[in-house]
Amino acid sequence: MKTAAIITLASFLAVSVVRAAPAERLENYTNKTVLVFTPHPDDDTFAVGGTMALLAKNRNRVVVVIYTNDNKGSYDQDMTSERLARIRKAEEEASCAVLGIPKENLIWLGHDDGELEYVPPKLLCGQVTKIIRQYRPDAILSVDPGESYERWHKSDHRMAAFNTMDAVRAAEFHLYYPEHLLVDKLQPYMITNFYFFYATTNDANYVVNIDATMELKVEAITKQVSQFEPAVTKYRPDWEAEPLKKLKEFYHGDQEKKDGHYVEMFRHASTFNQK
Ligand SMILES: [Zn+2]
Repeated sequence: MKTAAIITLASFLAVSVVRAAPAERLENYTNKTVLVFTPHPDDDTFAVGGTMALLAKNRNRVVVVIYTNDNKGSYDQDMTSERLARIRKAEEEASCAVLGIPKENLIWLGHDDGELEYVPPKLLCGQVTKIIRQYRPDAILSVDPGESYERWHKSDHRMAAFNTMDAVRAAEFHLYYPEHLLVDKLQPYMITNFYFFYATTNDANYVVNIDATMELKVEAITKQVSQFEPAVTKYRPDWEAEPLKKLKEFYHGDQEKKDGHYVEMFRHASTFNQK
């Protein structure tokens, strides 16, 4: 009952503070810890690579939690899941290195591509709850699960969106996964800064100017060689000049822009829907 009362209070408070401006702009963070939760080892770069590079440049600890090993997305019939997982890991490490994030800051949960929804939910939530309690982030970047309405995302994205928030909630209460406190000596932890990506245009309420890191973002995208033609059809580890040039042009054109600047859009919230 006590928990229910707290939740009711939190729901009430949520109504009044959910649209409050963040206490400190993400772009001004220094010496903070930010966790990035990404369904696949490229959504982070595609969605928020510019912001990640900014955070890294400003001497923050950026830790990337990667739900799946991306071991299915190839049309090359000579490819195996095991080999593709190795390739994707190396590509993500190279991609994050360009953004200024060392491979030591990548946490691989290692679940099969496209099958995140078949992972036992209690295990999956527990994995992320533990990471939150260990790293105690000042903010998280994650797929937007929706606020008033659930947001539909493709497989893995929707599971990552919901699971991350289920874990955020569990991390606050010591009676969820009590072994974290009793065995691992990890205290409960409450997150109060959420930057959701893949938000709808209507929901996005926070804009990060990424002019300073746009070139790093595009360079990082080019490290995801296996995800683009020609390597996605017949794997090769390198680029030919022409498709590489086209890819860079495409992403410069595709990147969201506002008032003549390259931007990444988020839905920022300081709490989440407990109703
Ligand atoms: Zn994805």
